[in-house]
Amino acid sequence: MRVLVTGGAGYIGSHACQRLLRDGHHVVAVDSLFRGHRAPMGLLGAEFGDRFAFVHADVGDRASITGAIDAHDLDTVMHFGAIAYVGESVDDPLWYYRNNVSAGIAMLEAIDASRDGRGVDRVIFSSSCATYGDPPEGMIPVPETCPQRPTSPYGFSKLHFEHILLDYANKRRSDGKPIALAMLRYFNVAGSDRGGVLGEDHTPETHLVPVAMQAAQGRRASMSIFGTDYPTEDGTCVRDYVHVEDLIEAHVRAADRIGPGVSEAYNVGIGAGYSVRQILDSVRRVSGTDFEVIEAGRRAGDAIALYNDPTKIKRELGWSPEITEIDELVSTAWDWFQANPDGYAKG
Ligand code: UDP
Repeated sequence: MRVLVTGGAGYIGSHACQRLLRDGHHVVAVDSLFRGHRAPMGLLGAEFGDRFAFVHADVGDRASITGAIDAHDLDTVMHFGAIAYVGESVDDPLWYYRNNVSAGIAMLEAIDASRDGRGVDRVIFSSSCATYGDPPEGMIPVPETCPQRPTSPYGFSKLHFEHILLDYANKRRSDGKPIALAMLRYFNVAGSDRGGVLGEDHTPETHLVPVAMQAAQGRRASMSIFGTDYPTEDGTCVRDYVHVEDLIEAHVRAADRIGPGVSEAYNVGIGAGYSVRQILDSVRRVSGTDFEVIEAGRRAGDAIALYNDPTKIKRELGWSPEITEIDELVSTAWDWFQANPDGYAKG
């Protein structure tokens, strides 16, 4: 494959680049570097040479996207480029829609403008379990058929773009230029490349596992649990944590197996839920440290409990996660944080 990876300098996108390059593919990463990092681009460039290129551009920059597709003869787009904080999306919804929806539309227009719109015939989209919101009774674990009723602008931005992609794929089919479309609804992605090269480094950091890493390293004085009065076993939110390399494996399988003219959605999560408290206990075990935890109020936009029913992805893509033990997942994150205490910035 010859793959355009949008958001390629971000946490998940960079892991996708690495896996695709290891498999022998040609990869062009596009990233605005708003939240992505130049450092992993350099690391991948050094390892994989001219099979890898980095383009510093926004995903909504039509000329750059069309230019990259044409210059590198690309046939596949893996679209990771987005902003992805639930709380932030509640505070600034229009910004979320502009980045996650409008820029995505521009990217599709850029695909159409390249090589008579025939070049790219495979699109893999990073969607989210946030499109489900709070599933109705009987729908946890969550199957793909669960009603999609997001509880945040972030979740809606991902759902809107799923609809846009389905309409785009229909149009491409009726134009005789069919695409293979996979919409992968991620549960909570965590952990790091087990080769120790790539990791998770966000500014600001809001995700549970990296925040807990920073607390365990003493790099923040304390951390908060957002909500201890949820109707769950221990009162804290429940999520499904999937290792980033297992997540990327799902992309590779989707790219291999979905044929032209076919549009499919798959949930990607291990099929088990962990509460916030269980994650913090795991971080304590793995790091061998304790840290101050404040029991704070609920965070706007958070769903109560979400974990995957992996039946469809197992059956149709033959996917199953290698890492299912929470301590094993947390260990991969911990190893990178210990080796890179200041993240990519000072390495
Ligand atoms: N969370 C928390 N404290 C933090 C960060 C997150 O209690 O400092 C909770 C959050 O409310 C949610 C879960 O951990 O219930 C996972 O949040 P995260 O931001 O990692 O991912 P999300 O589920 O929002 O995609």
